[in-house]
Amino acid sequence: MKFPNLVSVHGGHSGQFCGHAKDSLEEIVKAYIDHGFLWVGITEHMPPVSDAFVYPEEKSAGLDARALKERFADYMTTCRHLQAKYANDIRVYVGFETEDYSGSLDFAKALIRTFSPDYVVGSVHHVKDIPFDYSKRCYDEATDCCGGLDGLYAAYFDQQYEMIRELKPRVVGHLDIIRIYDPGYRSQLIKPVIWEKIVRNLKLVRRLNLILDFNLRPLSRGETEPYLSAPILKMANEMGIDIVPGDDSHGVDTIGVHMPGAVNMLSAAGICTVWRKPVDNPH
Ligand SMILES: [Zn+2]
Ligand SMILES: [Zn+2]
Repeated sequence: MKFPNLVSVHGGHSGQFCGHAKDSLEEIVKAYIDHGFLWVGITEHMPPVSDAFVYPEEKSAGLDARALKERFADYMTTCRHLQAKYANDIRVYVGFETEDYSGSLDFAKALIRTFSPDYVVGSVHHVKDIPFDYSKRCYDEATDCCGGLDGLYAAYFDQQYEMIRELKPRVVGHLDIIRIYDPGYRSQLIKPVIWEKIVRNLKLVRRLNLILDFNLRPLSRGETEPYLSAPILKMANEMGIDIVPGDDSHGVDTIGVHMPGAVNMLSAAGICTVWRKPVDNPH
């Protein structure tokens, strides 16, 4: 049975195509079917621009930028194949998740031209070219580089604004992931100097009619709040922005676990649970 409420607008990282995920892409798609999802957007990470942006786990697997680009081409082909193979069981959208560091937006645009994905998720995982979400150490390094947490948050949201303006991704990924290693994020996000940047970014999302990813990955790590912390969720909803859950799954064990709870959370917050599909034309 398919449940119209169960969807993921940002899902399906797999061990086959991502160094920090598990399981094959086919196992991932089957898990979405088993859990009764109506549709899923498979949005694997884009490959790095150059060897300088290859992650340690990829390096230790003997992969360089060139090999990762080949793996990405294989991903796109495999994902299209699975989309057709399971068309009677689930609607699969073939996408990818972008990066935002020196040179990455031009590269993302070139990948979009080459591979014609159904849509992309626009994400920021770097500030000043440092992958702040990779580890606490990287986060601290990025924080120091920005002169403290205020600077880190400000740089992140400024970069995100430029990314959204430049790329206009149909879905904006985990909008407030910059809070990832900051236990005091609740007060940090609503500091006027930060909050005004968040509101500015939300206004742009609204104007371009993009979708916000209500990202459940923090729940898999034992946190209580998805990305779109409560005040941002509230503001986005008041502004009429489309919000759609994304599990950001990195293996079959993170599929379907938190989604029913998240749907209830959104419903309780007064958000429409007839989800806009990432391929629908903006209304
Ligand atoms: Zn990932
Ligand atoms: Zn991400």
